[in-house]
Amino acid sequence: MPEGATLVPVICMSDQTHLTNFSGDKKAWPVYLTIGNVRSKTRNSPSKMAILLVALLPVPPKFTSKKAKKRSAQRTANDEILNAVFSFIFESLEAIAKHGKEMCCSDGKVRQCFPVLAAWIADHAENETLHGLKRMSCAVCEVPVERLGWDTKEVHPARDYQKYAEIEERYVNTGGEHNVASLLAVGVKMGRNIFTGLLRVEIPLLFKPDILHNIYLGLFKHLMQWIEDFLKKHGRQELFDEVWKSLPPYPGFFVPKKAYREVTQWQGKEMRNLGRCILGVFASSLRSPTPAQQSPFVDAIRCVRALVDFSLMAQYRSHTEDTLGYMEQYLHDFHRYKEVFQEFRTSKKTRQEADVHDEQLRLNLERKLKEAGKIPAAKRRRLLDENRLERTGKREEIHRNQSHFNFIKLHLLVHYCSHVRKFGNIPMYSTDVGELAHKVQIKEGYRHSNKNDASRQILHYYSRVHAVSMRLLTLRALQARKPEGASGLDNADRCFLDEISQTRSAIQLTETEATRPRRLLRGRDKNINSFKQLSENLGIPVEQIFNELMRYGRRSLQNPDRLIANKERLDTMPVEQFNQLQIPVLGFQETDVYDIHRARTTGERSFRNGGSRNDWVWVALGAANEYGALRGKLPGRLRGLFKVRDTGTNGKVYRLAIVQLLQTAGGNRISGAHGLVKVFARQQTSTDEFWIVDITTVTGLAHLIPEGDGKWLVNSRIDLRTFNDVY
Ligand SMILES: [Zn+2]
Repeated sequence: MPEGATLVPVICMSDQTHLTNFSGDKKAWPVYLTIGNVRSKTRNSPSKMAILLVALLPVPPKFTSKKAKKRSAQRTANDEILNAVFSFIFESLEAIAKHGKEMCCSDGKVRQCFPVLAAWIADHAENETLHGLKRMSCAVCEVPVERLGWDTKEVHPARDYQKYAEIEERYVNTGGEHNVASLLAVGVKMGRNIFTGLLRVEIPLLFKPDILHNIYLGLFKHLMQWIEDFLKKHGRQELFDEVWKSLPPYPGFFVPKKAYREVTQWQGKEMRNLGRCILGVFASSLRSPTPAQQSPFVDAIRCVRALVDFSLMAQYRSHTEDTLGYMEQYLHDFHRYKEVFQEFRTSKKTRQEADVHDEQLRLNLERKLKEAGKIPAAKRRRLLDENRLERTGKREEIHRNQSHFNFIKLHLLVHYCSHVRKFGNIPMYSTDVGELAHKVQIKEGYRHSNKNDASRQILHYYSRVHAVSMRLLTLRALQARKPEGASGLDNADRCFLDEISQTRSAIQLTETEATRPRRLLRGRDKNINSFKQLSENLGIPVEQIFNELMRYGRRSLQNPDRLIANKERLDTMPVEQFNQLQIPVLGFQETDVYDIHRARTTGERSFRNGGSRNDWVWVALGAANEYGALRGKLPGRLRGLFKVRDTGTNGKVYRLAIVQLLQTAGGNRISGAHGLVKVFARQQTSTDEFWIVDITTVTGLAHLIPEGDGKWLVNSRIDLRTFNDVY
């Protein structure tokens, strides 16, 4: 590239999708395009229109013929059509990748830009198709199928697509079947890679880790199968379901309403949800093991924990050598403990083989008994016992030898850390963006079409939506740049903006809030004016509330501020009761994005007809070095929210929360194989059963997983912030 050239990394995305959510097997196969010069946050925000629909690829028809020859012919035809379509798509890019093109940048300067394909985001199956690889092949390295499930410390040769191209050329020129064979040996299909020959493109670098398909829809699906078999083997299924159904609410978390086994749909949303709670639920359902269960339970929990932790840290938006080191360690741990699930990795073939052997041994026994004729009952029993042992032994041996973890999705995790080192965080290339684009660009387009030759209409529909929205964004930017009256907009533009802002725009444009939202008390109960009424409403004796208030005053208030230690005075102060506290919680690794936690307390009454709700919250009570891993915070149940005005000298208003705090045990440390903090209920009779605290010390919702008998596990895997804070 010449000196002073500007590189424009082109990021493409492809993902087959269904056109409707409801019925039919109509599919679309869109290719989207965006560029790396746009900040990833802007790029991934749908309202910024940074993702273009470039093409709808032809979706190959289903294989109808059963004949191998016909199927293979159809496969060849599919591949050739795909190659031709991509040559056409890349043609225009190739022309300017060579000499560059002068382009206007957003800062008003004109630059010589060289757009070069730099990333291709797709799930694994599509990557295999596009790279022309056999099934179970990695696009980055030449790992053989039988090593896919092995530890991360193994290094396999990186793929050299340049070399493959040379071998292909040699074959085309001079023939020689050994050339084809040498490519097939490393999983490469001759002439099928759509990226071959593209100028300045480094094919092995196009691969991007894909958390959604690889981990959530891939590995977690496997993991859940193993967990289910494991629970069944150890008779813990019912306990698991019981814990599963009693999970508390949390922002962005969908509280399961059905038993785990009754859930039929496991898509991205459900799998992510599962990833946030599975460790705690699993650990809770394996509580109090028998001596024989101890060792497998510990290994199983460690294995699940390793995969969950890996999946969480892979979502960090910034990394250090430490976090990458942790990720490598988690993966290593997973491999170290995965053996505990090996018996559940059996294929149908293996199970059949085991059945055949089993039947053989049973027949052997029958024959032996027949030959022996009349034998004493004791001897007969001994023979039966021996045979039973032999049969289970054989079955386990077959399972052990033939079950393995050699599947591609496990291998791909190996490349996550090196990818972060080279290209930065993983979520920036998330396929989630594609899912959103599908909705806006493809499905809406299909809905608006007359369903006849829909592809063209989808493409046209979206180019119009895109053009209008881009113009709108440009106008908004111009309007914002200059002060009122002096804006660079002419009358026509201003009318256009006004008109648009009055009608509902097809694409919602949202402005991000830069200021920190405030903590708010919501849902005032109009019938409550005094402590007496509050006490009745909450079911807490008024005496106890007064004592707590005075304790709060002594603990937290400066002298002049102190609520007067006079119960008669307190009795006259006006009180308001609320049922909701809105707490803005800064998003993890964000500076201006807040999640709103809504902590509810409905007392004894029902919440939306679903029984009463008194949420778990975090209360910041001590310094960061207190309460061990919890860092100065304790979880508790929110039992009341109220506002009281000191009618005395200062007229000050106190916004307070009544919380039933839990206590930690075991030195407040992270305990056991699951690495979660255990918390306990305080004695009902204890003087500090209820605490009154300022609402500013309530820092957010807590997610606790019940462990029975007034015990809970603090679910620190519920979101990235908690995961990062509690360790
Ligand atoms: Zn690999």
